[in-house]
Amino acid sequence: MTLQAIVPDIAAKPDKPALPLPDGRVELLGLTRGEIAEALIAAGEAEKGAKMRANQLWHWIYHRGQRDFSQMTTLAKDLRERLAQRFHIGRPLAARDLQSSDGTRKWLLRFADGEEAESVHIPEEDRGALCVSSQVGCTLTCRFCHTGTMKLVRNLNAAEIVGQVMLARDALGEWPSPPDGRMLSNIVMMGMGEPLYNFDHVAKALKIVMDGEGIAISKRRITLSTAGVVPMIERCGAELGVNLAISLHAVRDDIRDVIVPLNRKYPIKDLLAACANYPGLSNARRITFEYVMLKGVNDTPADARELVRLLKGIPAKVNLIPFNAWPDAPYECSSDKAIRDFSEIVFNAGYSSPVRTPRGRDIMAACGQLKSASVKRSKADILREQAAKETALAQAQAAGLSA
Ligand code: SAH
Repeated sequence: MTLQAIVPDIAAKPDKPALPLPDGRVELLGLTRGEIAEALIAAGEAEKGAKMRANQLWHWIYHRGQRDFSQMTTLAKDLRERLAQRFHIGRPLAARDLQSSDGTRKWLLRFADGEEAESVHIPEEDRGALCVSSQVGCTLTCRFCHTGTMKLVRNLNAAEIVGQVMLARDALGEWPSPPDGRMLSNIVMMGMGEPLYNFDHVAKALKIVMDGEGIAISKRRITLSTAGVVPMIERCGAELGVNLAISLHAVRDDIRDVIVPLNRKYPIKDLLAACANYPGLSNARRITFEYVMLKGVNDTPADARELVRLLKGIPAKVNLIPFNAWPDAPYECSSDKAIRDFSEIVFNAGYSSPVRTPRGRDIMAACGQLKSASVKRSKADILREQAAKETALAQAQAAGLSA
């Protein structure tokens, strides 16, 4: 294998539409309708009617969850055969599938290049949310987050993001897209990675997810969480119109600089100004401010009062997250009383302030506990590993010869 093939190319390749698989077939998942039509024409299908066929394929892929072209009975038989030869409708591989005692389910997903990320399904009584990853690893290094201890390996592309939703739907048996009563009713972009650092792929994937003739999860049921990439916030609102959640976690820059280092680039004042301008806000559509409760760091009544002051004028709700521990984490969760007192101050100021019940802690699926074994390796690392392997091989051979 060449170095080129081993080192993932973060910026360029994944977003090229109609990327051929190693066997030459083109992956349809993650393409827009227009791109599907183009791919059909590029594969030699007639231009006339390509748009209609793309729409038919869309229906089979995203409304029915069908992956087998031979079962697409609204298409002519010979067309189905040609499609099967040239195209593919994939899913990430579920390398591990863990179920928590509380019903939460976590999949470790392996993508075509072997990199891994996680997604988590959190069922409620009559609905459920899927927590979707946007990157393998993360660049943000938030001090309390387990994913933050991984380096960014690469962005996920639209197929890999939408593939997480498809896989969960497969597992829940929710094909064709049920109009109501779904156990996958909501999407939260709160898995591994910072979605606003991978906006183009996330936006493309979410537009597919929101399409009414396919997966059909409306923007009102999708929440994108960001640690505060200020310049992308407006675009997110204007282009996607999804609910916004902000990982605020501190009310003073000196503390936030440490626990969410992105704050050094985009301080609290700028972040809140971007929030106040988020398109489409109203009392019925509020921004969620996530606040992880860290003992002795950000959890005093004075912090709560300062939070209330900062949020003035922004249609907001607050979500208090008890800190979820992970091996060697440098923090502890605040006491129940500190969390209750904090919540009460925020609530009495007129904001809803529920405490998020941790879900899936036993399988390390709760907020901030996601981490895969994918590690970013530099070319130098890879060369060093190769050299070490070669040396070991040479030594083994030499030992064999002399023995
Ligand atoms: N990068 C985005 C998306 C990740 S969302 C963001 O920061 O918003 C994951 C959420 O879980 C964030 O609110 C994050 O701050 C929170 N979180 C991370 N580590 C946590 C932990 N150990 N305990 C509780 N919440 C945590």
